[in-house]
Amino acid sequence: MAEERTPKEVPQPEAVEAAVEGMAPTAAPPPAPAKAAPARRYPQPPRLCYFCVERVVIDYKNVDLLRRFVNDRARIKPRRQTGTCAKHQRRLSVAIKRARHLGLLPFTAEHVRKYGWGGT
Ligand SMILES: [Zn+2]
Repeated sequence: MAEERTPKEVPQPEAVEAAVEGMAPTAAPPPAPAKAAPARRYPQPPRLCYFCVERVVIDYKNVDLLRRFVNDRARIKPRRQTGTCAKHQRRLSVAIKRARHLGLLPFTAEHVRKYGWGGT
């Protein structure tokens, strides 16, 4: 009855392997190469909101102003083209849509072709 070996004393091969793996030093990531900023492909428009700078209140009746924020296909220009801030772009889009509803601005390029820009 002297044989009292518990399995705990015998190192299990799987346990040893796991311990070695856990202690394995992780390879340090190579230092990131200094990235030069890529050359800009397009000229950047001024990042100034016209309405903030000029303190203009957006009005759906001010068609001449709204027309500057609509492209030649009668679509609302994106913020990245005009530099308008988010707040004013929201109000601008509502104003343009109101003006369209009243017939002051065209909805589509088809309208532009048929009827022009409304001035004539
Ligand atoms: Zn603004």
